[in-house]
Amino acid sequence: METLTVAASTDLSVHLEVTRSVPASHNPVSIIAKKRDGGELTPAEIAAFIRGYVAGDIPDYQMSALAMAIYLRGMYAEETACLTKEMLRSGATLPRSESKQPRIDKHSTGGVGDKSSIVLAPLLACCNVEVPMIAGRGLGATGGTLDKLESIPGFRTDLSTDELQRVVADVSCAITGATADIAPADRKLYALRDVTATVASIPLITASILSKKLAENLDALVLDVKFGSGAFMKTLPQANALARSLVDTASSLGVQAVALVTDMNQPTGRMAGCAVEINECLDVLNGAGPADLRELILALGADVLAMSGRYRTPEEATVELQSHLQSGRALERLHKMVVAQGGDLGAPLKVAPEHVLIAEYAGVVQRIETESLGLAIVALGGGRRVITDRVDHSVGLEVLVRVGDEVAAGQPLLRVFAPAAKRASVQEQLRQAVVIDDEPTEPLMLIVDRVV
Ligand code: URA
Repeated sequence: METLTVAASTDLSVHLEVTRSVPASHNPVSIIAKKRDGGELTPAEIAAFIRGYVAGDIPDYQMSALAMAIYLRGMYAEETACLTKEMLRSGATLPRSESKQPRIDKHSTGGVGDKSSIVLAPLLACCNVEVPMIAGRGLGATGGTLDKLESIPGFRTDLSTDELQRVVADVSCAITGATADIAPADRKLYALRDVTATVASIPLITASILSKKLAENLDALVLDVKFGSGAFMKTLPQANALARSLVDTASSLGVQAVALVTDMNQPTGRMAGCAVEINECLDVLNGAGPADLRELILALGADVLAMSGRYRTPEEATVELQSHLQSGRALERLHKMVVAQGGDLGAPLKVAPEHVLIAEYAGVVQRIETESLGLAIVALGGGRRVITDRVDHSVGLEVLVRVGDEVAAGQPLLRVFAPAAKRASVQEQLRQAVVIDDEPTEPLMLIVDRVV
């Protein structure tokens, strides 16, 4: 037996014990040790690691060591692409349908009030493309598309691969969770990263997101990479780095990609919570809704449609998208998708009683503590602390002001949708989340960069 120390920094070491009998090329520890020396992992080493991990031959503790080495040292672009490809190959991909239409999708890194997928899937489906959207659940301050859709009575987010294919063939779009056969390596590795503090690593996030998205067998993918208080990436440079990694990795694996880098220092749109966000999506699909949400949806949609070759330019695609919103065609497509997935939008969605919080004094909105708003929704039961928590779809918030707005004393700032008893527990947190002072403050730009 020999003990190796595997680490890039002296204050965080991972000690592993190995026997000399393991062949060097399949010895996970030798791979990690090489990583420590700054050497590149070969495609064969990455493949052996991921395949061995999924097969159960490589135990969690060795995978944790590799995850930590990657977290601390990063990966070269070629290594990230190879890791993504192996994680994608660990599972099934969606076969292409006979329609021969371009297949496209959008992915967001998540935020508070981030609901654009629910409008985009049916809207894009009106443009002779297929959108087989595999979406996720909320965790922490950020909401999840699947949780929001589950506020529609009967709506199923657990379609099998066959059902997903059938809904896409009939409606041209579907939104569902990853089936068990899609990227099993990611499911196993993500759970491990969650408990080993290795989630916040750009190569690991890239491989995790793209192994699931590329399983859809796409022609083009648009990414919404968010930064700021309500986002996973807190700073613009971090978000830009993730956007670059996602775009380059997708492109190197044969899928055209563009990323918009967007500001999550205030919620997107006005609503945050499950049922209230679905209602806001219905407003947009009715040709109305908040301007920032419409801007984001049109920008993401136009980019991905232009990449797919359906339209010559994003401008041409924008005109088409606007016409589907104004005419009600996109709304009709959402209704079809909901019915095809077992849901019923015939009755108003259940929303908890509302209560308005007002400004105590006049001034300018300096900032909105967006993460705090998201965590307040979780505390009201509208999100999850752990993945097994049940979500109360009826609670939420309406944010009535934006950063840079002048407010008068007594002016409504937030509408809280929650039973009175629950609301009391977050009232002070919500009050403090909208920061008002005398200083003039510039409004925030939503889309701050575009990475191609
Ligand atoms: N979302 C994912 O799917 N994976 C990550 O690693 C982070 C966010």
